[in-house]
Amino acid sequence: MWLVSACLLGIYCRYDGGHSLVPELVSKLRQGEKDHSGRISSGWIPVCPEQLGGLPTPRPAAEIVGGTGLDVLTGQARVVARPFGGTPAGQYKSPPGLRSGCRRGTSGAAGGLAALSIPGKSARRADRDVTPGVTPPRPTERGEEPSQATGQDVTGAFLQGARQTLYLARLTGASGAILKEKSPSCGVHRIYDGSFRGHLVTGLGVAAALLQQEGFEVLSEEEFLRTSQQ
Ligand code: SF4
Repeated sequence: MWLVSACLLGIYCRYDGGHSLVPELVSKLRQGEKDHSGRISSGWIPVCPEQLGGLPTPRPAAEIVGGTGLDVLTGQARVVARPFGGTPAGQYKSPPGLRSGCRRGTSGAAGGLAALSIPGKSARRADRDVTPGVTPPRPTERGEEPSQATGQDVTGAFLQGARQTLYLARLTGASGAILKEKSPSCGVHRIYDGSFRGHLVTGLGVAAALLQQEGFEVLSEEEFLRTSQQ
């Protein structure tokens, strides 16, 4: 079982109400391709940490200021919504065969709760690894209320989303996660630097950092595709 950034699967959960569909990734997951380490993926779960943290869709773009996702986990950096200009006019992309009418104003629709098993593959691992003692984060750990306001500190929502993602990984006995590069939540190797000028730095997003810290393997979509072809 793998968690997968929902936007990579064509779910409208990006900050701008769009998605980041990678057809080749979807194709490999649906075919049950061997993953990068030679194991057969037995299933995958779409997950959007920012929606799980209670943020709306669309929402202002956000970046980590003062460090990386690891620093956010230790309280040494924070996540801030874009401080000017409001939500950008997204260039919405429609996955093939889907109507576009429900893409705006949704929240939580892709919160990662729909487990999708690849037909014909065993659910043995999920059955074995669900941990009765896994406890979801308490609502009181949530931090500030989610908002669409720009310039707001949204660190609490990002931390809550990361915790919920970790909970889901533990609950399902996931092997790891395939996450969207460059995102302040999901980035695995690169994230934006907090200047909102499109500059990238090396580092993990908040959810990716927590998963990795807790022993889960995290791969970017590019990494998964590259290694699965070897
Ligand atoms: S990159 Fe992660 S947090 Fe951002 S929209 Fe995609 S799944 Fe959600």
